Amino acid sequence: MGEEYGIFVGGKWRKSEGKRFETTNPATGEVLATFPAATKDDVNAAVKVAKEAFESWRKTPAPRRGELLLEAARIFRRKKEELARVVTTEMGKILAEGRGDVQEVIDFFEYAAGEGRRMFGETVPSELPNKMCLTVRLPVGPVGLITPWNFPMAIPAWKSGAALIAGCTFVLKPSSLTPLCAARFVEVLDEAGFPPGVVNMVTGSGSVVGDGIVDHPDIRAVSFTGGVDTGRHVYESAAKKMIKVGLELGGKNAILAMDDADVDLLIDGVMFGAFGTAGQRCTATSRLIVHEKIYDQVVDELVERAEDLKVGDPLDERTDMGPVASLDQERKVLEYVAIGRGEGDKLLTGGKKLRGGKHDKGFFLEPTVFAVERKKRLAQEEIFGPVLSVLTAKDYADAIAIANSVKYGLSSSIYTNDLRWAFRAMQDLEAGITYVNAPTIGAEVQLPFGGTKETGPTDTREAGTTALEEFTYWKTVYVDYSGRLQKAQIDTAKLVGG
Ligand code: NDP
Repeated sequence: MGEEYGIFVGGKWRKSEGKRFETTNPATGEVLATFPAATKDDVNAAVKVAKEAFESWRKTPAPRRGELLLEAARIFRRKKEELARVVTTEMGKILAEGRGDVQEVIDFFEYAAGEGRRMFGETVPSELPNKMCLTVRLPVGPVGLITPWNFPMAIPAWKSGAALIAGCTFVLKPSSLTPLCAARFVEVLDEAGFPPGVVNMVTGSGSVVGDGIVDHPDIRAVSFTGGVDTGRHVYESAAKKMIKVGLELGGKNAILAMDDADVDLLIDGVMFGAFGTAGQRCTATSRLIVHEKIYDQVVDELVERAEDLKVGDPLDERTDMGPVASLDQERKVLEYVAIGRGEGDKLLTGGKKLRGGKHDKGFFLEPTVFAVERKKRLAQEEIFGPVLSVLTAKDYADAIAIANSVKYGLSSSIYTNDLRWAFRAMQDLEAGITYVNAPTIGAEVQLPFGGTKETGPTDTREAGTTALEEFTYWKTVYVDYSGRLQKAQIDTAKLVGG
């Protein structure tokens, strides 16, 4: 039956009146824990304490806030293996990737902690004498963090690390598929010593808890990662309140393979990009656009490698790919396989649910490769599973046109040894991220992360120095120490020197 959790509000685990739901292991079906599907009252209680705690948290010096993040990073480091197993068991990614999820928490918390000693503003000259002008960053207030299941610790860390160092308190609503990861994440923050009310977590459905957070009048910013339709809904609700919103809504990321590409390097990259995390990354390589001169060679090698992948128990170190995260995910991927077949795409390998033995208990799918034409749905829509669409291009311009023909714009990549193509692609690919000679996945925390087009608005970026933008606003300060009334724009012409 697993452990029974409540909601984490005001530094304590509390009961909720909501019905309970189970979280399960997608590889075995085993129930891991139960959580409350919290009510609007629970959300209101969480926002209330987050608002109260904000008053002292915003005044806590940023370097001190950073020390708590560093302490949390230390605990994550100590518990890395244990927590990686929780990630793998609840979400289904292989253990090496579970460790990567936790490592990303450590990396980002350490990075964000340092930001507490920077958080630079500007000093700007005044047009008047004996007057100083500067800008400072201020936290927006209590914020809502709504997270998906594919990086069940890393994404809460990206959002909360930035919110905390900025001086915001938060209410986290994790995906109902991975509340256990979120609970273990919050437990570490609690152990690190964040004051009660700074860190809050409420589990439950998007429609009750998610909407409840976004619509609450005291929530002053929302950071959301998930699907486009949900993101659009969150954006509309947030717009009505005039609050900041960060959205990261996935992609249909392409690797461009030019005819001079190192094919071995390319295939290694495509395998990792397409089938890592069973294709359930927003940056997953879901399209491979190959120059026609090397198309046959690439496809042959790719199919051979895909058929060699070991799909199975994600806790077994020998496994290459675990299950997809849920029955819904499994259905969605198989539906896309049917769509591909129906539209006449050529199935090169895979396409089926794996059956027999341990596979019967989980959501295991074959790594799948389709040869697809550019306008087909498999070439356009995000599948979020282990399905790669391969397309052929006549030349560089054609490859770019295909790459940019989708509604998303998150990650992109080009494999080439020709500097001209590499540098042009940096400018020509409509995406927030471009890799050269590396797959579309592999973001590092010290750089901005986000996209363009329907991946989300370009005014916010997670991670990097830009991470603070989601959770702060600029205050402009004018200090006049002249001892007399000075009038900007009016006195200026008369004044020379002090
Ligand atoms: P969703 O967008 O539905 O879920 C993401 C988060 O939003 C979850 O915590 C969810 O809660 C919450 N949510 C759902 N409805 C609302 C709402 N009305 N208001 C506020 N929050 C809400 O994605 P799914 O998990 O259903 O996945 C669907 C597809 O989205 C995937 O197949 C993939 O294409 C894409 N996706 C993209 C991700 C990315 O990294 N950009 C990550 C995950 C998914 P709950 O589910 O608990 O109800």
